[in-house]
Amino acid sequence: MNLHLNLHSQMQAAWDHVLATYQPGTIEMAGVMGMQIIGFVIPATIYMLIDVVFPKFSQRHKIQTARRQPTRAQIAHCVKVTLFNHVWIVAVHAALTYAAGFDKAMLNLDPTIPGWQTIVTDFIFGLLAREISFYYVHRALHHPSIYAHIHKMHHKYITPVAFAAEYAHPIEHLLANVLPITLPLYLKGAHFVSIMIFTVFELWEAAADHSGYDFLKLPPAEMHDLHHEKFRVNYGTIGLMDWIHGTDVVGWDRAKAKNA
Ligand SMILES: [Zn+2]
Ligand SMILES: [Zn+2]
Repeated sequence: MNLHLNLHSQMQAAWDHVLATYQPGTIEMAGVMGMQIIGFVIPATIYMLIDVVFPKFSQRHKIQTARRQPTRAQIAHCVKVTLFNHVWIVAVHAALTYAAGFDKAMLNLDPTIPGWQTIVTDFIFGLLAREISFYYVHRALHHPSIYAHIHKMHHKYITPVAFAAEYAHPIEHLLANVLPITLPLYLKGAHFVSIMIFTVFELWEAAADHSGYDFLKLPPAEMHDLHHEKFRVNYGTIGLMDWIHGTDVVGWDRAKAKNA
């Protein structure tokens, strides 16, 4: 049997077992917490440990210079705020589950998990929907009348570290971090397994984008790192919307002002 089919039938068997063993509300709660731990907390901790365990290797691969790196106290503060953001999102989900009843599913927990084609389609749909929604929410957060109240907090780390990905005002965390990733696939009615695969990837991408390291180029870490360094450039996640709006080069706004 080929590998993809084999993996898929193993996933289906695991899903059958989960559905037969736990209530829908418990499955969703465990999934929401599991996604955050596997997609974000573990990778962000590993990125942080690289700096402590392999300082030489770390310095060689940091995008910005050692002089500009945050202090240990600043990193500890960042971790504390970020974990709080994760905890309150879980608490909101727990409250919704409690209100709906643990015996009812709020998400699509269909007994048959989707095929690879649907999982890939959901993934691409999620990627594009997140790029478009995050771009506009992020640009709005940079509006002079909003910036100081909300988004300035996320920009505290000019030289970001992985945990700084979710270092944000609670309103920003909900509007820019949580909803652009989860809402489009929820509205599409995607299967919970599909949502989990996509969310784990996106959370890891956010951690990698803020890690400050130049390796693992698939999520374009330099792009968002530059946003933290120069502010008015690269508002999106994969570069598509910045390319469309011409906001992918430093100074795009100055050039526009000159031509006006
Ligand atoms: Zn950022
Ligand atoms: Zn920003």
